[in-house]
Amino acid sequence: MIDTHCHIDLYDNPLEVAAAAEKLAVKTVAVTYLPSHFVLASKHLAGFKYVRPALGLHPLVAKDHEAELKLFAECFGAAEYVGEVGLDFYGGNKASKSIQEKSFATVIHHLKKVSKFVTIHSRGAEDVVLTMLRESGIGPVVFHWFSGSKRQLRNLLDAGHRISINTAMADSPKWDEMITFVPRSSVLTETDGPFVKVNGHPAVPKNVGSVISWLAESWKTSPALATQQIENNYNYLSEELS
Ligand SMILES: [Zn+2]
Repeated sequence: MIDTHCHIDLYDNPLEVAAAAEKLAVKTVAVTYLPSHFVLASKHLAGFKYVRPALGLHPLVAKDHEAELKLFAECFGAAEYVGEVGLDFYGGNKASKSIQEKSFATVIHHLKKVSKFVTIHSRGAEDVVLTMLRESGIGPVVFHWFSGSKRQLRNLLDAGHRISINTAMADSPKWDEMITFVPRSSVLTETDGPFVKVNGHPAVPKNVGSVISWLAESWKTSPALATQQIENNYNYLSEELS
């Protein structure tokens, strides 16, 4: 199983969550908010095979970006994964729009030189994110917890990008319909733990199992085949980007 978006460093017990995922061999992309967090995560996850850190520049901490851009550049070469990066223009978050755009342009600048596996935040900024990626020829990337419209979903899929589905999405009636527009080859799984809750508890990497069950139902296939499909999608993406 694969969790392409999990905030391991934001749980009360990060190392326990990481160790549990490692033991179950759940491939987990441990996204971070800032490059300094990536440096810490890299140290903690040094011995891990399945749980790997991602270099982030999260739009919701735009006020911290300037002090971290130099470190982002320094870490970029060694980072296997990039995330969480992107834009958030939802509600009051729009106040930092110009800082966010400048930071995301920096991320894109680096990705133009070397492509990586990227997990993207795009809430309320779906069109801008897509345009910035298109103009710089970046992709495919993975749009995590996509909350835009059907039109925007089609646009990102037409551009070759992927989406990752979490349990909150699988539980929402909106996605019962939306998922039917998404080619199976464009789907990945995530938890977005600890933000997403499962039965009142923060979702942990193994909870992608519930997303797999939901996908299997939607695809009218078995959980084993759905798992294989996600695995193939992930491997294809990883190979395409290397
Ligand atoms: Zn996230």
